[in-house]
Amino acid sequence: MDCPNCGVYNPEDRTVCWRCDQELPKPKPPKEKKDPAALQRRMWIIVAIAIALWIVLTWLLPVLLGGGATP
Ligand SMILES: [Zn+2]
Repeated sequence: MDCPNCGVYNPEDRTVCWRCDQELPKPKPPKEKKDPAALQRRMWIIVAIAIALWIVLTWLLPVLLGGGATP
């Protein structure tokens, strides 16, 4: 990032400017570690998959157990 004091470029991992020793602002974190919305979305996807599996199993099990005894 560029130094807010003197405008010179500094590598992202530096905490102070190499030129004027001004403290650099912290770089933004690459990813939000805790995102409740994303967690909730993932939970709903898991719930949807579980419900879909349950429906498929309840539909398939009688067919499989019945051994194709349909008329
Ligand atoms: Zn500087």
